[in-house]
Amino acid sequence: MRHCKQIVDLVSQGMESKLPWSIRMEVKMHLLMCKNCYRYAKQLKFMQSELKTIENNIADTALTETAKKRIQQSLKLAIHETSND
Ligand SMILES: [Zn+2]
Repeated sequence: MRHCKQIVDLVSQGMESKLPWSIRMEVKMHLLMCKNCYRYAKQLKFMQSELKTIENNIADTALTETAKKRIQQSLKLAIHETSND
């Protein structure tokens, strides 16, 4: 059984998809049993999808390259801070 920290690391690095099936199952099983990790993973997935939406929207707007980069940077920082929680 893996520790929460390892599970959280795997999830936050988006590594589950690249891992062997058995480890992915282990992560999934852990998320089913551990409320904290489940909540974290859910939050992270939500933030990542929000980030994608925002990035797509930004691409469509007339923002300057500098402004886009600044927004993307701060969003990535926010996700990073959450992963250290
Ligand atoms: Zn856990």
